[in-house]
Amino acid sequence: MPPVALVTGGSRGIGLGVSRRLLQDGFAVAILARRPSPAAVAELRAEAGEDRVLYLQGSVADLADQRRYLDAALERWGRLDLLVNNAGVAPAVRADLLEATPESFDRVLGVNLRGPHFLTQAFARAVLGHRLDPPPPDSRAAWSESAGGAGADPPDRPLATIVNISSISATAVSTDRGDYCLSKAGLAMATQLWAVRLAPVGIVVYEVRPGIIATDMTAAARAKYDQFLADGHLPIARWGRPADVAAAVSLLAAGGTPYSTGEVFHVDGGLHTPVL
Ligand code: NAP
Repeated sequence: MPPVALVTGGSRGIGLGVSRRLLQDGFAVAILARRPSPAAVAELRAEAGEDRVLYLQGSVADLADQRRYLDAALERWGRLDLLVNNAGVAPAVRADLLEATPESFDRVLGVNLRGPHFLTQAFARAVLGHRLDPPPPDSRAAWSESAGGAGADPPDRPLATIVNISSISATAVSTDRGDYCLSKAGLAMATQLWAVRLAPVGIVVYEVRPGIIATDMTAAARAKYDQFLADGHLPIARWGRPADVAAAVSLLAAGGTPYSTGEVFHVDGGLHTPVL
């Protein structure tokens, strides 16, 4: 039985990159997204095998959909190893703080913060309900071999891993999308809260913090970010790609950092580094 990953919003952009990478790493992947199953999911099935990709149409902001999502993955595979809280939305309209509406606030916070917070709660409860499942094979044997074979003391493998895809907007201010910034700052705190709460039960929690990644979400601001790059603000002077974020998730999901939790892993070409 392969290890099982849940990737919210795994049908487009960063989430699609993460799904594809995790399938290559040997995971079975369950995707939750709003539209009817898109062509990209059929492609994933063709690449990885029909039985390793599950698609559920629903919203991460809807707790009943979250329940259906967990139940569908458990029913199909009987185990849960990784949750990637990736699904997210930008405000429909970029509005100055003095004009921004409570409707936009509720929508953005509902998807970007309330959704992942309660999905994390439901995932952790479900994992603990299934903790008798054997851990995925491989890492202990591989570690023991590289450390000198029998007698070496392998690290504990986490029972499960949660990765929150936040944003540079967790700390960088954009006054024309305050709701988005608040949602990502909240997700950063959710990472720390859940990291501390779940450490005693063996579940590790990480935050992956992307910078400027080429997806549908940033398409509308393409010219602005092209100029930002041309002005020399990015130490690694190119747009990020979904595969860059997926590579970070893959590292953290591999279980090779069992004594770390609550960490922030930046995937932003160095953008977060203060430069004088
Ligand atoms: P994207 O291209 O707009 O894709 C968003 C994905 O999330 C789609 O699969 C979409 O599914 C899904 N989704 C949206 N609302 C949902 C909901 N209520 N329930 C379930 N699924 C939902 O966005 P992206 O650029 O890949 O962003 C992915 C994550 O990275 C987001 O959390 C975003 O805030 C974060 N991020 C992005 C960037 C960037 O530069 N792109 C930078 C920092 C952080 P449908 O197709 O069905 O709508």
